[in-house]
Amino acid sequence: MPEELAIGLDIGASKMAFAVVNGRGCILDHRTLPTSSGDSVDQTLDRIASQLEQLLAAHERCAAIGIGVPGPVDSDQGLALNAVNLNWRELPLRDELAQRLARSLPIYVDNDVNVGAIGEMLFGAARDMTDFVYLAIGTGLGGAAVSKGAILRGATHSEMEIGHVSIDPVKGRPCSCGLRGCLEMSISGKGLVAIAREHIQDFPQSELSMDDLTTQSIIRCADQGDPLASLVLRQAAAALGVACAWCINLFNPESIVLGGGLIHALFHLLETDMREALRVRCLPGSLEYTNIMLSQHADAALGAAALVWYQRQKEAEK
Ligand SMILES: [Zn+2]
Repeated sequence: MPEELAIGLDIGASKMAFAVVNGRGCILDHRTLPTSSGDSVDQTLDRIASQLEQLLAAHERCAAIGIGVPGPVDSDQGLALNAVNLNWRELPLRDELAQRLARSLPIYVDNDVNVGAIGEMLFGAARDMTDFVYLAIGTGLGGAAVSKGAILRGATHSEMEIGHVSIDPVKGRPCSCGLRGCLEMSISGKGLVAIAREHIQDFPQSELSMDDLTTQSIIRCADQGDPLASLVLRQAAAALGVACAWCINLFNPESIVLGGGLIHALFHLLETDMREALRVRCLPGSLEYTNIMLSQHADAALGAAALVWYQRQKEAEK
């Protein structure tokens, strides 16, 4: 029997990535489209459907589609509940796309961080693990927990919001969620920039300037030993240590997998301080058991395709 293929689609704030993937995680075709925030919801859905039709025509063996979407998702119903950057609220993404496609095939929708965790579990750093936590460190900080091989699901689809655990709700930096002192405001792209902005007046000798305060400039300066950039990294490392300690004490995972382009770029700068922050917060015995490792896959569309194989497995177990 010819091998079945899956289409993975990651819908990000600035671009959408499509991949045709086989059951071993090999990418056979990969395409991207700009997300284009000027489009209406219908126009975006039409563009997605048109790209999917092209891939389905080019790869007849595609048997299902997996989609990763930012924000909370009702994966049973295929609903994108609140993708803020896309202006999608309560959008029946699965059914809207099914109506637009000529071929009838299963479409699975899940949160983008859950999809990243599933990609690592099937094809990446967490291969063959049944209990692990995945932290996505990019513009923000997201998390997913896998217990006995299944993604942990919450009552209202807002589980594992580790980025919005507040460590200083009174004096901390304000977060877009409305709270103060969220971990995301220390360990994420926007967190690094916010820490640097807060302390820049105290470091007149720093190479960093208000005109060029980006994650790239902070990492570059930290690599050169710049005192402000080093302080930013120390604070970010401590926050990552707190996030990992929470996850270890709550879930007792085999591994914490750190994903996202940002953490791959700066892990060498914060690993030592992060491990110290962890050591003083973890229950004895748990920390020694837990590996902290970088993810293997940068391609979010691969994770979205992995969602297809994951859901197939779950359906077979029922
Ligand atoms: Zn927050």
